[in-house]
Amino acid sequence: MLLSFADVKAALARTRWIAPSSSPSHSPSTPVPLHRPTIPVAQRTIVIDPGHGGIDPGAIGRTGTYEKHVVLSVADNFAEELGRLTGARVKLTRQTDIFLPLEERVAIAQGVKADLFVSVHADAAPEQSARGLSVYTLSEVASDRLSAALAHRENNVDALYGVNLQHVDQTVAKILFDLARRSTLNQSLALQHELVADLRSQTRLLDNPARSANFAVLRSPSVPAVLIETGFLSNGQDEALLCMPRYQRHMGLLLAHAVSDSINSALSA
Ligand SMILES: [Zn+2]
Repeated sequence: MLLSFADVKAALARTRWIAPSSSPSHSPSTPVPLHRPTIPVAQRTIVIDPGHGGIDPGAIGRTGTYEKHVVLSVADNFAEELGRLTGARVKLTRQTDIFLPLEERVAIAQGVKADLFVSVHADAAPEQSARGLSVYTLSEVASDRLSAALAHRENNVDALYGVNLQHVDQTVAKILFDLARRSTLNQSLALQHELVADLRSQTRLLDNPARSANFAVLRSPSVPAVLIETGFLSNGQDEALLCMPRYQRHMGLLLAHAVSDSINSALSA
């Protein structure tokens, strides 16, 4: 796999080990768990990432709704309400209609040492009947064909719009790095599970709403991350809702409450 030095450093910096011999409660045979410090939610930093922007419109609905506009409005409401509910430091990757390469979105989250990264999208699928919200985590193998196609399209944005990704292939720290990455993924999966459970009674979900795919924007090894598809612009009913400012606000508030309810238990997973 391709790692940057910054990836390895960040992943290791955020992973703590319980010292095996300093605590009397640990006998030599007690497994030493990998854990992260428990931080009060008000001291956490959460990065919310409205997908697409600028020359990249994202998905375009059947009546011409642009994904980039829908998700900016949802994310704006989401961020404001989440900050109000939790007292956490909430940062948006973009606040205006600008193009932002996927790698830069990940770098923003790493730069502010985010405890959580949530990417917000509203996509399209060839099956026009597909509708409802879903929550994605990172996986090298997509959970199904629809997920694979969505990830493929999202990841191609940078290639399409002329951004050249530069990586450093660094394999020396791979074992430690993989441990840190697994711990991050466990937290992402815990959050996904809780978000889906919370949102199920609040809004319409896609069939099998807990999905996984190889989204580049979720690849930060040190920051737990989920990508939320708020609905499908390829579905007439979803598009009619998603293009309404009132619904965009409603969705933002739903997401804020769901994350606020889930963050503590998910990040201590
Ligand atoms: Zn998208």
